[in-house]
Amino acid sequence: MGRIHQLPMSVVNRIAAGEVVERPASVVKELLENALDAAPARIDVALEQGGIGLVRVVDDGGGIEAADLPLAVTAHATSKLRVAEDLERIGTLGFRGEALASIGEVSRLVIRSRIPDGTGATITVDGGNVGDVMPDGCAVGTTVEVHQLFGNVPARRAFLRAAQTEWSHASDAFVRTALAHPGVALSLSHSSSSADKGRRVHDLPATDAWRTRIADLFGPALGDRLIEVEADDGEVSVHGFVGRPEDDMASTRLQYLFVGGRPFRDRSILHAVQEAYRGLLLSGRQPIVFLSFDLPPEAVDVNVHPAKMEVRFREPSRLYRLVLASLRSRFLAGNVTTRLEPPRIDAAPIQVRIPEFEPFTPRATSPESALSSPSERGPSPAWERDEQRQESVVDERAVQMHDRYIVVESGDGIEVIDQHALHERLLYEKLKASVAAGGLEVQPLLVPERLDLDPVALELIGEHAGTLEQAGMRVEPFGGSTVIVTSKPALAGDTPASELVREVLDRLAATSAAGGGAGMLVDEVLHGLACRAAIKAGNRLSQAEVDALVRDRRIVQESHHCPHGRPTSLTLSRQELDRQFRRT
Ligand code: ADP
Ligand code: MG
Repeated sequence: MGRIHQLPMSVVNRIAAGEVVERPASVVKELLENALDAAPARIDVALEQGGIGLVRVVDDGGGIEAADLPLAVTAHATSKLRVAEDLERIGTLGFRGEALASIGEVSRLVIRSRIPDGTGATITVDGGNVGDVMPDGCAVGTTVEVHQLFGNVPARRAFLRAAQTEWSHASDAFVRTALAHPGVALSLSHSSSSADKGRRVHDLPATDAWRTRIADLFGPALGDRLIEVEADDGEVSVHGFVGRPEDDMASTRLQYLFVGGRPFRDRSILHAVQEAYRGLLLSGRQPIVFLSFDLPPEAVDVNVHPAKMEVRFREPSRLYRLVLASLRSRFLAGNVTTRLEPPRIDAAPIQVRIPEFEPFTPRATSPESALSSPSERGPSPAWERDEQRQESVVDERAVQMHDRYIVVESGDGIEVIDQHALHERLLYEKLKASVAAGGLEVQPLLVPERLDLDPVALELIGEHAGTLEQAGMRVEPFGGSTVIVTSKPALAGDTPASELVREVLDRLAATSAAGGGAGMLVDEVLHGLACRAAIKAGNRLSQAEVDALVRDRRIVQESHHCPHGRPTSLTLSRQELDRQFRRT
């Protein structure tokens, strides 16, 4: 007898469940997709204990025939495709025929369904044991209940987080799907236990206007202020809404991408968005983005991720360019002002601060708390060392304000410097000059930093190890998904190498996706290093640090490179001040 044998179906399903069902949010997503594929007018979702106790999804779509119920919960059984070629033009959200079988393996799954001219029926799957089909007096459509997720798999149950955390993931899955399908009415309710009556968190009427659905989810204040964008390059088109620069966010939480009714993640496209906002946002701040792409089915592969979270485009650079161009042209067309404009005193604009839009649980922290407070600030920045070798030759009197600006008297007025922007530029210029001169000072790490990477990042590192090395970052494989960083440029100061690598990877991903050449890649790495290593807004500086920055700014002023990114300073001329105070 050989030792190889075919696995029983229950084991196959259990393995698949590991990929498809990670947590209640995955159940919400799969059940919503199934409901949407049945062309309903309305879907109601109810959760208990963040979905750990129960996820119930009720739709009024086409239903499942009683005789088909056992197949619906069988692996690799689907009504959505027949032949392999169908995979090339998937028109439904589901197609793998895995979700219900996987979910039934790790919970108690109850399905009730009725097709328009049939009789209702129900089936239960309890930890993989499929029960008999029984008649049921349900309405047309389908109700799916998932009780006690991972109740029969203690090892996986142990990995679930507190109900509150699971709830926030599950409601996020709901929000993403609801955004992708404004034409379907949707509701979401949550209760802490079966005894609790619960509360309705979202009640979204069907609409043909995407802005309305966004406003219903995130509030009319946000909806009203969004800027519409639209572009088409003949094959690919994009439509959606982006936030005004002044409505920026501390996180990427309000950045949503969709293709063919599917939410997806894509670093390259988000990088194009960042590029478009360059100069309009303070660094570290994130724009609000809702973008939906339309392209021929054969130009996008949705079958690359078990949970269908990622898609692959045939020509990623095309989307990159389209996004960049559509946003840029919109911003140039007007109505978008940078907040770095000199203030006009006679017509001082009222600062409208849109609060963080929080569809879920309110966060205890303010957006600004993402920036470290002076006491949390790390060790001195790299340029302090430069400063020590020179005597103070600062003749201007420079003052730090609001822990982010430095104000200096200049020849003909007042100069206001953005400490982060200036330091970032300085570091970049210094890095660039040293690389060009072949004299980049590299600091070997006494204790190499370990970094666990996802497969995409791992591949990028392999591809661009040479580029990273040119910029002083030596990254070596360490087995599996782990790499070690053994050196970084001395100019990066005390910024952890792992942070530098992550920043640089994001940029490399986008630049190489957009077809950037070797020179552009090194440049992007240097920009990433400078951005990460620079002091941040919110860092309180010593007078010596302030003076060093001010003194070094001539390096930026004298650099022959065209300015990259947002301005580092602005000047209020004395004339302008005189005029404002009506001295002339
Ligand atoms: P897939 O969605 O990939 O086909 P699933 O395991 O999610 O696989 O579902 C299996 C089948 O069950 C679907 O192909 C569909 O025919 C049927 N089904 C599941 N949920 C519903 C629903 N809410 N309404 C109608 N049919 C459904
Ligand atoms: Mg499905």
